[in-house]
Amino acid sequence: MNNYKLLTPGPLTTTSTVKEEMLLDRCTWDDDYKSITQKIRSQLLTFAGVDPAQYTAVLMPGSGTFAVESVLTSTIADEDKLLIVSNGAYGERIVQMAGYIGLRFAEYRVSYDQQPDEAGIRSVLETDPDISHIVMVHCETTTGILNPLEMISRLAHEYDKTLIIDAMSSFGGIEMDVGGLGIDYLISSANKCIQGVPGFGFVIAKTGKLAACKGIARSLSLDLFDQWKEMDKDGKWRYTSPTHVVAAFSKAMDELVQEGGIPARSRRYRDNNAMLRERLAQLGIHAYISPDKQSPIITTFLFPNERFSFQDFYAYVKARGYVIYPGKLTEVDTFRIGNIGEIHRQDIEQLCEIIEEYMGVTAK
Ligand SMILES: *Cc1c(COP(=O)(O)O)cnc(C)c1O
Repeated sequence: MNNYKLLTPGPLTTTSTVKEEMLLDRCTWDDDYKSITQKIRSQLLTFAGVDPAQYTAVLMPGSGTFAVESVLTSTIADEDKLLIVSNGAYGERIVQMAGYIGLRFAEYRVSYDQQPDEAGIRSVLETDPDISHIVMVHCETTTGILNPLEMISRLAHEYDKTLIIDAMSSFGGIEMDVGGLGIDYLISSANKCIQGVPGFGFVIAKTGKLAACKGIARSLSLDLFDQWKEMDKDGKWRYTSPTHVVAAFSKAMDELVQEGGIPARSRRYRDNNAMLRERLAQLGIHAYISPDKQSPIITTFLFPNERFSFQDFYAYVKARGYVIYPGKLTEVDTFRIGNIGEIHRQDIEQLCEIIEEYMGVTAK
């Protein structure tokens, strides 16, 4: 058995009480189980701060990518056109998906360390009136950059476009006013900031928009409209549902409430992330993303010097109880540390001590 904690952006470290929920076997068509699904769906709307008369929540098996693909394949018709705003690997994955599905799309791409800018997007919207949908990743987990939700939602509203947000690594960990921003589809998954285990994703959708999507899906299993219609009857999933994962997620949601809800969790993440960046900066390990654009979720750090070996560093930190993440950039050498999950101040303090010790040892 390993006894290390994950400092990765999902799967992440979960509580033992969340894991214990998976010790029972549950029956998918029994009312006890279906009521868990319904409770999760309604609690998601509460976390999102949306009006249940206007929004619905649909759960979709698979990892987060499956949920993103289910929105793309089910809600964007052949005659529509999608604008993909991208500055990282997850934006690029959406481009890849659009290609597989055969959607009409345009890409607005900026470099990994930059936020998409309003003037650039505005000019695309002005020159390409075919665009009907916009998709953007909120927290690009590739680098940890936080993209401007308020800006994109203002543009979507002004130009009357349907707005899809991949909030996979931010929902539950960063406060956001989903209804106020007018987000049409917000996508996240069980194993990120709500701190469940991997196995399904979810979509918080404007009911009026989703209701108009019957028959669009090019995939049977990823048909979001059908999944919604079936689930909306009484909480039954169309096909086998990940029962253990669902039960664990329900517990994780209760624990989020106990912690003080999203504002309290967001504060914990922010404080831990700030402490981590400050203490590593003192050692000459600097963040790749500037502080004004940095998310409180995951940080990309530049190698401190040319002698630095990620493998060696990784093994040193792992032997002392924490698992970190390799970088995902090609042009610079980086590594990443996530601070979401059941990770508290003491963990970050301990991690910083381990890294301080490592830097002291390798400097000699
Ligand atoms: C985790 C994540 C996804 C989904 O990745 P999976 O590996 O399919 O769970 C999508 N977008 C972002 C921004 C993510 O952080």
